Amino acid sequence: MTHWYTAEVTEILPLTEHTRQFNLCIPELENFEFLPGQFITFDLPVGEKRRDRWRSYSIASAPAGNNQFSLCIVRNPHGKGSNYLFEEVREGSKLTCKGPDGVFTMPPLTGRQLIFVCTGTGIAPFRSMLQTIDQKTLAFDSIHLIFGTRYSAQVLYRDEWEVFAGKYSQFRWDVALSRESCQPFHSGYVHELYTSLYSNPVSERHFYLCGWTPMIDEGVRRLKEIGYSEAQIHFELYG
Ligand SMILES: Cc1cc2nc3c(=O)[nH]c(=O)nc-3n(C[C@H](O)[C@H](O)[C@H](O)COP(=O)(O)OP(=O)(O)OC[C@H]3O[C@@H](n4cnc5c(N)ncnc54)[C@H](O)[C@@H]3O)c2cc1C
Repeated sequence: MTHWYTAEVTEILPLTEHTRQFNLCIPELENFEFLPGQFITFDLPVGEKRRDRWRSYSIASAPAGNNQFSLCIVRNPHGKGSNYLFEEVREGSKLTCKGPDGVFTMPPLTGRQLIFVCTGTGIAPFRSMLQTIDQKTLAFDSIHLIFGTRYSAQVLYRDEWEVFAGKYSQFRWDVALSRESCQPFHSGYVHELYTSLYSNPVSERHFYLCGWTPMIDEGVRRLKEIGYSEAQIHFELYG
């Protein structure tokens, strides 16, 4: 039986023009336990039928050993759910949520070359994983984070990736900007980056993709074309 919690918004941080970080806590729990990469689901008052009201969000923070967690949410100008969160929800607001759910969780960190590919708020599960690696000083062999967005002003958590890259030589991050040319970032779509860098399939390489259908479909298609097996391609679909 699903348990629904009442979560309270403790802080809302603007990240870019259309993206915000929502920090929440679940007062009835001492510890909200989840695995890095999992998501929660809100029941928002935006529709009559249950299916019309539910919106899922990947947890964008590491499990903290307490009842707090963060979400990273983009506003869809035509979407009921994200507009409700941006227009009606304030610090102190209470939201009905369930979770955690999901199997897009931390992969084995050694013996594998990991490529994390995302666009926009698709960064959320990877931020949770990378924060966990850092906080728990987990050993990892190789992680390449590839983030895609339109403009350089929309690069999410840039400072954090710079610090991470300075700390761990086996971590690399790249940004692909589809509508702007801006050093040190690449111009174009995320797919062009990893298909040119990783055009020789090797068995220890695994791709993790997170974002909306067009990006995931294109990514899976291209990776299979290169010769990667289904077992090497993992994804979280936002819709
Ligand atoms: C497991 C899971 C995790 C998710 N995690 C996040 C997250 O961490 N952050 C986050 O912002 N969203 C996340 N989403 C998406 C989120 O659940 C909502 O779908 C999103 O907020 C849009 O809801 P809406 O009501 O505003 O728009 P809707 O009315 O539900 O959307 C209308 C249509 O627009 C498409 N769409 C909506 N937003 C975008 C977009 N930005 N780019 C391209 N197409 C879009 C949808 O696919 C849908 O077809 C996640 C979804 C799932 C299933």
